[in-house]
Order: sequence, then structure tokens, then C-alpha cells
Amino acid sequence: MKILLAVLALGAASTPLNDARHQAFIQTTDPPPSAAFPMVDRPMTAGFAVSGKREIDTIILHSSYDPVGKDPYSVRGVVRGYERYGVSAHYLIDRAGAIYRLVPEKNVSYHAGASRMPDGRTNVNRFSLGIEIMNKKDDSYTPAQYAAARYLISRLKGQYPIRYVLGHNKIAPDRKSDPWNFNWNTLRSPA
Ligand SMILES: [Zn+2]
Repeated sequence: MKILLAVLALGAASTPLNDARHQAFIQTTDPPPSAAFPMVDRPMTAGFAVSGKREIDTIILHSSYDPVGKDPYSVRGVVRGYERYGVSAHYLIDRAGAIYRLVPEKNVSYHAGASRMPDGRTNVNRFSLGIEIMNKKDDSYTPAQYAAARYLISRLKGQYPIRYVLGHNKIAPDRKSDPWNFNWNTLRSPA
């Protein structure tokens, strides 16, 4: 018995931190992970509200970069910027097309701000998922980013009855211009 307990304790102690972090994001309805588009768990500690079950029917696309760091496309720098402003997104796609999970889908991420849907609904964070794609105002998205966004959106469409996939600029046109230089045709039809 003593030996068994020791083995169990060892097993628990050797559980990598990544597993525990990963568990926070797992939902029973999750489709299997894709080898081509791996997801990296990088949970944020603020910028969202913990929520129970919520109805999700909207995806909002954003773009951002780190204006103060040495590398404008550093995941760490971009996330630090979100933390500074108390905002977040559910997902962040880096320049190489890697998909970072920042906030579990069930939680309400603060990404949309004051905004209004084409159907008149406000409080958009409540029923939406936010995807940030790294880009600067004078830069273009990489093919890998379009591919990753396409994959992620279709994955989410398989999980939720998504009715809208919109840019931030569409729901807050007087405040927001992102996703900058986003080509919706490229998103829809791969080259
Ligand atoms: Zn935005």
C-alpha cells in the first residue's frame, strides 16, 4: 500500500504544468486537435469574466501588435498590452499561424467594447468569441495566418451555431478600424 501511494504521489508530482493549463480549456464538445494547426495554451489571468454556459453565435476578428516592444509581433508583448488595458481575446494568431488560446470559450472575453451588431444587439462580448490576428496597420497578414484563421473559424462553426463572422470595424465603426488590411476574400477562398 505504501508503495502504491508513493507511485501515485510521484505520478501526480510529475504531471506537467501544461496539462493543468490545458485542462482549463478542454470542453466535452471539443473536436479533436489538428496536427496542422496546433493550439498553444497561454491562459490570461485578467481581461475576461468567468461565465457558465452561454449562447455563442458570433465571431469577431481583430488585429493587434505590440507598439512598445522591440518585436511588434511578440506574443508576450502583445499579451502584455492586453493586460495593460484589461482586455483579452479568446484566441491570438501569431505571424507564423500558431493559434494561442488565451481565454476559454465559455468565458466572456473583453474584446469588443462598446459596439453594435447589424441586428442591433449590443453587449457583444456576451455572445461572441474574439480572435486577434497579429498585424500592424501598414503590414499584410501572412498566408499562414489566413490558413490558421480559416481553420479556427471552421472549427468554431462546428461547435457553435455561428451566424456572424465580422471585423471589429463592422460593429464599432466610429471607434475601431481593425482588422487592418484584412482580405475577406482570401479568408474565404484559399489560393
Ligand atoms: Zn479590435
